[in-house]
Amino acid sequence: EIEIRGLHKSFGANHVLRGIDLDIARGEVVCVIGPSGSGKSTLLRCVNLLEEPSEGRVFVGGTELTDPDVDIDAVRRRIGMVFQQFNLFPHVSVRENLVLPQRRVLGRNKAEAEAVARKNLARVGLSDKSEAYPAQLSGGQQQRVAIARALSMGPEVMLFDEPTSALDPELVGEVLAVMRVLAGEGMTMMVVTHEMSFAREVADRVVFMDGGVIVEQGPAAQVVGDPLEERTRSFLNRIL
Ligand code: ATP
Ligand code: MG
Repeated sequence: EIEIRGLHKSFGANHVLRGIDLDIARGEVVCVIGPSGSGKSTLLRCVNLLEEPSEGRVFVGGTELTDPDVDIDAVRRRIGMVFQQFNLFPHVSVRENLVLPQRRVLGRNKAEAEAVARKNLARVGLSDKSEAYPAQLSGGQQQRVAIARALSMGPEVMLFDEPTSALDPELVGEVLAVMRVLAGEGMTMMVVTHEMSFAREVADRVVFMDGGVIVEQGPAAQVVGDPLEERTRSFLNRIL
């Protein structure tokens, strides 16, 4: 579903991604872990071209994003992204947060967009909050709305960049629970996270990055439980 080949990204003289090769199969859940500054967010942002790769190729669902002739808006519609900061539209209701992008980007009519919004709010357990404004919700609820908004666009792939890092600890579980359901439904997911219990329980594969390269990857039980590389070991010792 996602193919990354020889990906490099520099910001000026800062060579952040130094040759990333990664394949993610349809329905696979991959967790990306690694120290601050190792390039995790940059990697995720290159997968939907929020950052333009300096070198290398990225394919999603067989379409090359890095092809200069690609219709990037069309490709982006197939990729949902959820950020650490929920990035909801603050001045409209939860329902409108889900409806407006469907109408603007996908050209859906009002009735259809409303129906899709209702379905996805139910999916994240927030049917009763459709008329609330984002500021009236807890951080966990806001993040669930952000997930429902991304799902309303009908993505083939979902990218999550530390979706629970801005949340109070007691709100983390409800967001991870929604992500777990999504994984169980077969969504292809790439998740940057420090939640090792989620990685262990849900990820098909864990990728450890450091210094802009993939240092090691494999099943969570192996990478998190019994890493091969010293760099992985010392990172895990610091965060666990
Ligand atoms: P964290 O765990 O703190 O989120 P990360 O692994 O996600 O870290 P990135 O955000 O990808 O790391 O950043 C990697 C490097 O790229 C850092 O040195 C950062 O300063 C730099 N960087 C990221 N985005 C930009 C940008 N838009 N312009 C310039 N430099 C950037
Ligand atoms: Mg980051």
